[in-house]
Amino acid sequence: MPAKIAAGNWKMNGTQEALHTLAELHQGLPSDPPRVLICPPATLLAAAATATLRSPVQIGAQDCHAAAKGAHTGDISAAMVADAGASHVILGHSERRTDHGETDAQINAKVQAAWAANLTAILCIGETLAEREAGSTLSVLASQLKGSLPSGATPDNTIIAYEPVWAIGTGLTASTDQIGEVHADIQSRIPGGLSILYGGSVKAANAAEIFAVPHVHGALVGGASLTAADFLPIVAALAAA
Ligand code: PEP
Repeated sequence: MPAKIAAGNWKMNGTQEALHTLAELHQGLPSDPPRVLICPPATLLAAAATATLRSPVQIGAQDCHAAAKGAHTGDISAAMVADAGASHVILGHSERRTDHGETDAQINAKVQAAWAANLTAILCIGETLAEREAGSTLSVLASQLKGSLPSGATPDNTIIAYEPVWAIGTGLTASTDQIGEVHADIQSRIPGGLSILYGGSVKAANAAEIFAVPHVHGALVGGASLTAADFLPIVAALAAA
């Protein structure tokens, strides 16, 4: 059975004062919690890792470079992410694909770099609204998976996140039928045992029905992961699923 995972992506939000949220999360976890993971901005990685040393809450980065080191101003390597105390890294998020023009080939190289640094990659894939309306959702996702997921994925080194681009930060959520169709298709294309997360405007009000969909093993959550008050009910819904 794939692990249940509630992952929060803080994106470009949070300075030192946001660290208290990690303690609030720890205090509010249910008795049998799923894996809980927070991905703060790079500036908070080391402090967040230190703040969670005695907590089951794990820490992830939001990106890393594919190269081990070198002349890449502003970037951080997978080894640097691990050195900061993080255990996971989000790769291929649609905001990186859009803002930074990341391609499947580049993301594939980043996943390999993450594995080499003993990080678990959270590989994001998702279709745009135009692609969904054109009826090409499953083929787009299959192509993204083929291009960005190297061979050698295991439950320890890889988590897949299905995030329809049109549902991220918009308040729109895919229907449970849409999520179920996509997750079943992804499941048929990846090694057994990998967790598949749904992402796209997940919140307390819709978490339970999303987690009841077959092949949904958790969520990657943006806006609703910024406060413990918003994120803990999602964690509780996953624990109960
Ligand atoms: C995300 O950024 O991965 C995400 C799903 O954001 P939100 O939950 O805010 O839609």
